[in-house]
Amino acid sequence: MGSSTAQAIGRPIGKVRMKQVNGEKLLASLGDGVKDIRGRITPDAPMDRVTWFRAGGLAELMFQPHDVDDLIAFLKILPEEVPLTVVGVGSNILVRDGGIPGVVLRLSAKGFGFVELAGENRILAGAICPDKHVAAMAMDNGIGGFHFFYGIPGGIGGAARMNAGANGVETRERLIEVNAVDRKGNKHVLSNAEMGYSYRLSKAPADLIFTSVLFEGYPEDRAQIRAEMDAVRNHRETVQPVREKTGGSTFKNPPGHSAWKLIDEAGCRGLVIGGAQMSSLHCNFMINMGQATGYDLEYLGEQVRREVFEKDGIKLEWEIKRLGVFMPGREVRPFQGVTSE
Ligand SMILES: Cc1cc2nc3c(=O)[nH]c(=O)nc-3n(C[C@H](O)[C@H](O)[C@H](O)COP(=O)(O)OP(=O)(O)OC[C@H]3O[C@@H](n4cnc5c(N)ncnc54)[C@H](O)[C@@H]3O)c2cc1C
Repeated sequence: MGSSTAQAIGRPIGKVRMKQVNGEKLLASLGDGVKDIRGRITPDAPMDRVTWFRAGGLAELMFQPHDVDDLIAFLKILPEEVPLTVVGVGSNILVRDGGIPGVVLRLSAKGFGFVELAGENRILAGAICPDKHVAAMAMDNGIGGFHFFYGIPGGIGGAARMNAGANGVETRERLIEVNAVDRKGNKHVLSNAEMGYSYRLSKAPADLIFTSVLFEGYPEDRAQIRAEMDAVRNHRETVQPVREKTGGSTFKNPPGHSAWKLIDEAGCRGLVIGGAQMSSLHCNFMINMGQATGYDLEYLGEQVRREVFEKDGIKLEWEIKRLGVFMPGREVRPFQGVTSE
């Protein structure tokens, strides 16, 4: 490799027909308790309708709770051994083609999509509320410090988990506390310090489901906020493939480096594997060109890690969360940083 032109390598895979998993069986195993659940339960739910990549296998069972009480009621009847995976609006996840075993929890907009004022310069937002709605509410009320949310396409729970950031601001800088429920259905309130934040990372226990987040900004002139939000939007439209099927930044920026620069220097801008491509516009964004599978996308990502390591000796770390299991025969071996591999 090493040239900066787009290249196609690997085996094109084409669309893979997903097999039915055991959702009905899992649902039946939950017993009569499900009759009291008010949210929607869907066996064998296609995750390619959830992820921004529009790729990936089936969730064995998808649960969309009506509200916090309904979520807790469901967790109380869910046997401990059943895996539970939380997703937000799916803008930073890659689901593997073998699907996600157990339950995928997707908060409903009805119960968790709210955003409201909660005191001076404070905003309380449900965990599936789009980040940009928080930015808009802040602007309407002259609360500064949230313009960066205007350009991030995720929901507030995802922002709290990923410490989403843009334009030099991170979620942790505005976050006061997070309301959450654990795997057993117990409620918790975590302070900013308890969220254990660093770059694109929270060390809050992995089993916590965030239900809402309290933020605080500062007084700012509305026209000024509007101008900042417009600048965020205009900038993104020119430098990111915002209308593509993508998952945002694929890799974290290694300390002292920009991931996109390393990818570019390694000749991976525009690199294609199957139906997946490193965007020519922003080469740290992977895109689904139409028929990409989870396999194509993950294989491409690992190939880029290999190329960057061989060029610069730096191991890129995935920012995108990869969820679920491989389809048998289509496993992607993670690049370990051994060039002779
Ligand atoms: C075009 C584009 C541009 C992007 N630009 C940026 C950017 O500038 N900055 C940035 O930081 N990110 C960016 N992203 C990535 C993404 O939007 C953010 O990471 C976002 O915060 C993810 O939120 P989500 O709701 O989509 O979460 P998902 O992608 O669904 O999930 C991401 C992670 O959060 C966890 N999670 C989600 N909801 C909850 C919850 N309620 N409780 C507990 N855990 C939860 C999931 O388990 C998963 O581990 C971009 C993505 C795209 C597609």
